[in-house]
Amino acid sequence: METPYTGQKCTCIRGVMRDNCSTCEGTGRVIDFAAIRRSAHTPKFIVGDKVAYSVQFLKSVGLSHSDAAHARGVITGLTPFGGGNLALATITWDREMPKKVITPNLAKVGANRRFANVD
Ligand SMILES: [Zn+2]
Repeated sequence: METPYTGQKCTCIRGVMRDNCSTCEGTGRVIDFAAIRRSAHTPKFIVGDKVAYSVQFLKSVGLSHSDAAHARGVITGLTPFGGGNLALATITWDREMPKKVITPNLAKVGANRRFANVD
């Protein structure tokens, strides 16, 4: 995986301080560790994947027992953003649901898949 950067220059001073810098790991550019953590927990999706909203997402927005929890869809398009496995998925749902969903809010469904991505 390519290392994501925040786009900011690190404030450490070139030399010994930079070699031991945990913010930029010696690159001088601030590494986006939040993006790395997000993508580490985000499975790679492909067009054609059958998906549902992830249990974690439904809980976080208080929709665990709503219609959204029963929605099933198929990914028809993926627009990567932010590095790692993050992407904006275009989904054809089996009911009225938002067509664009970021992949961390999704879980794959199917015979051999766990219903949710549990950490
Ligand atoms: Zn640094």
